[in-house]
Amino acid sequence: MLDTFVKGDVGLPGAELEPEVRDLGRKLGRSASSSRGAKHAAYDRAMTLVAGNEELRAALFRLVDVAPACANPAELAEHLAAYLDGVEAGGLPLILGLRAAGSPRLHTATGRGAAAAVRQMAGRFIVGETIPEAVPTLREFWTQEVATTVDLLGEATVTRAEGQAYADRCDRALVDLAEAARSWPARPLLEADSAGPLPRVNLSVKVTALTPLVRPEAPERGREDARHHLLRLLRRADEVGAHLHVDMESMDSRELILDLVLDLLDRPEFADGPSVGLVLQAYLRDSEEILDRILERAAGSGRRLPLSVRVVKGAYWDHEKIEAAQNGWTPPVWTEKVETDRCFERICRRLVDAFPLVRPAFASHNLRSVAFAATYARQAGLATGDIEIQVLRGLGDELQEAIAGAGFRCRTYCPVGDMVSGMAYLVRRLLENTSNASFLASQAAGSDLDELLRRP
Ligand SMILES: Cc1cc2nc3c(=O)[nH]c(=O)nc-3n(C[C@H](O)[C@H](O)[C@H](O)COP(=O)(O)OP(=O)(O)OC[C@H]3O[C@@H](n4cnc5c(N)ncnc54)[C@H](O)[C@@H]3O)c2cc1C
Repeated sequence: MLDTFVKGDVGLPGAELEPEVRDLGRKLGRSASSSRGAKHAAYDRAMTLVAGNEELRAALFRLVDVAPACANPAELAEHLAAYLDGVEAGGLPLILGLRAAGSPRLHTATGRGAAAAVRQMAGRFIVGETIPEAVPTLREFWTQEVATTVDLLGEATVTRAEGQAYADRCDRALVDLAEAARSWPARPLLEADSAGPLPRVNLSVKVTALTPLVRPEAPERGREDARHHLLRLLRRADEVGAHLHVDMESMDSRELILDLVLDLLDRPEFADGPSVGLVLQAYLRDSEEILDRILERAAGSGRRLPLSVRVVKGAYWDHEKIEAAQNGWTPPVWTEKVETDRCFERICRRLVDAFPLVRPAFASHNLRSVAFAATYARQAGLATGDIEIQVLRGLGDELQEAIAGAGFRCRTYCPVGDMVSGMAYLVRRLLENTSNASFLASQAAGSDLDELLRRP
């Protein structure tokens, strides 16, 4: 198997990287699996059940669609119970718990037990319901040489008051986190790369949570509404020395987010700070053109510090496919997983080559993708600390340990929010990772590691 893989690569451009990619992938894989314990059994069982059950997947997709319109947790729970009614749960506590959370069965012993199981599982994906609750975990990660980025959970904003409330929470979080981080111990790998210092505090924000007015057909109103919130957050981040990272969402908001952030960063007041980042989604067919635009704007801007660029594959694949099919469009996303994986690797190379104009951050739980990015960066002559590997709390816990243990800077994306937001987040991650093409699903199903490390 391995011989075929090596021989098959000979002669292809970049084939010289493959032995090192494979070695690093195996090393990270071994180290991650040695720390994978019983605590993951419930999530693994849920993955297996959801992966093989189209009816259940459809019910969960409907839930994700309706979640932003729910006025309160009780409403979300009601929808949940209705969608899951009649769906075969296989006795799984997660599904029983989700169902029980919205039905009178919550009051039965089984319902209570199942709801507790859900709480426990959702609790693994969030680091606290509030910032003060999250701080001890963030500090513990930092002490163990793991950086973090905090995401304040909440479903997409429906009213302007909700947008204002989210902006206020972000503003408060920047202040509180900066205050807390002052007493954290020195961790040189997490605090600087060869382009300069890196903030201890890092907050990821969503533009669609700042305003309900994001509409591709009328972008001006959404842009204006989001601009003043984002401006305030950039100023606050600068004042407290924090990093602000703007997440990327579905195609409906992509142009707005990109233009908004790049335009704001051109303002002379931000020439020396704050540290800011954007996200590039490799599943988009035009992602390399977007990268051209980002690099061009970064090169032409008067900013004296690098823009961070987090490359991901993209979390809205099903949504983009369905929306395109409904409108008779060509999907904006690649339709073969291997194309996304290849595009991810091309973008990794280009980001590494562009350092220090941009700071590359590789966000993936796919050992092949991570090992490729780190190997390419090393062979291109970057210092280990000049790249960053990012994982999601709850999904990448073991990989986080393996990455940090191998001497790389790992940054873990840490959601903070209540249990209902945590459940909605958990359901989204479940759906994302139970598609047939997912690396984590293949790994959980026992696929051969060398096969998974094969060049896409
Ligand atoms: C720290 C961190 C931050 C993130 N921030 C964002 C963000 O801001 N915005 C965002 O959109 N996502 C974000 N994500 C999620 C990310 O986009 C991926 O969905 C997730 O990480 C799974 O990708 P993978 O490389 O880990 O796994 P893999 O299993 O290797 O890849 C799965 C991904 O492949 C793609 N895919 C699946 N099936 C197909 C197919 N048939 N054809 C083509 N492509 C396919 C999808 O993008 C899917 O998510 C983030 C992830 C991390 C770890």
